[in-house]
Amino acid sequence: SKAPVSVIGLGDMGRALAGALLAAGHPTTVWNRSADKADELVARGAVRAASAEEALLASPLTLVCLLDYDTNRAVLEPAVGALRGRALVNLTNGTPDEAREAEKWAAGAGADYLDGGIMAIPATVGTPGAFVLYSGAERHFAAHRETLEALGAAKYLGADAGIAPLYDLALLSAMDMMFAGFFHSVAMATSHEEGSAGGFTELLVPWLTSMTQVMPAFAADVDADLDADPNGPAAGAGPALAQGLDVVLAGTQNMLRAARDAGVRADFFERAVAELEERAADGVTEYTGPETVRRLRTRRS
Ligand code: NDP
Repeated sequence: SKAPVSVIGLGDMGRALAGALLAAGHPTTVWNRSADKADELVARGAVRAASAEEALLASPLTLVCLLDYDTNRAVLEPAVGALRGRALVNLTNGTPDEAREAEKWAAGAGADYLDGGIMAIPATVGTPGAFVLYSGAERHFAAHRETLEALGAAKYLGADAGIAPLYDLALLSAMDMMFAGFFHSVAMATSHEEGSAGGFTELLVPWLTSMTQVMPAFAADVDADLDADPNGPAAGAGPALAQGLDVVLAGTQNMLRAARDAGVRADFFERAVAELEERAADGVTEYTGPETVRRLRTRRS
């Protein structure tokens, strides 16, 4: 028989999590501030807890999925006694530092803690495309892995509780900038009287799809650069992927001018051109992954 699980927080995501656990056959206890959000789950077999404390006491493992970490604390603090000897998996989105702080708080309450980042939307939770990132002590992950797999593929990233939220927010950052790029390009394409968002997007999707294939090679260059011993013998051939900086700069200037001419905001390209000009002024002649990442960092950890 499947392990009992409790879910605290039945917003859009919490309801999807509880629904996936029920579908996988886990005895599921649920609690939410607005109790009516549990109705449908209760109809499917979930047990409604009268308080967060009752939810924690009902299962060895509780998932928390609320608005933010302050809300987590406000909900869990009054029930802190119920955490002792139990496991808490926090699936509320927050920063790495918040996760590390929450782990300390949970340890102080005698609870095992994992932090998680859900790479899914409510509709895809529990389906093959969904995955969830986890960090915290590996033995806690191992102990609950089978249960967590009901939500989506469970990917363990490391012992530092902060790494799952770091990767989560980095993945969301890439998505955000991709959508920003998408809307920027649609604004440009539709500035033309014969342009249409739909027709343009038919070209954009295969273009972006093929461009994502370049990322692993860039990533390999970045990793090789990170691994290189700055005091050791000169690194071999250097980055495998390199383009003349002058060509990249000229192309970026064209993107800036074309956006302006089309009556589309071009702030991003103003900054991109300025940053590439800085590289040129520093004597850099090639556009590479490691150099690009280095220049994004405001400090080296
Ligand atoms: P919702 O807005 O649907 O749900 C918010 C939840 O927080 C509800 O359970 C709400 O309770 C509760 N809440 C808010 N304030 C308080 C409070 N002061 N006291 C007690 N409970 C409170 O958000 P989601 O379910 O969509 O998101 C939850 C988390 O999941 C977020 O961290 C989000 O980033 C993350 N997530 C969401 C995804 C999505 O696509 N939706 C994707 C990946 C992650 P009540 O019902 O009583 O208002």
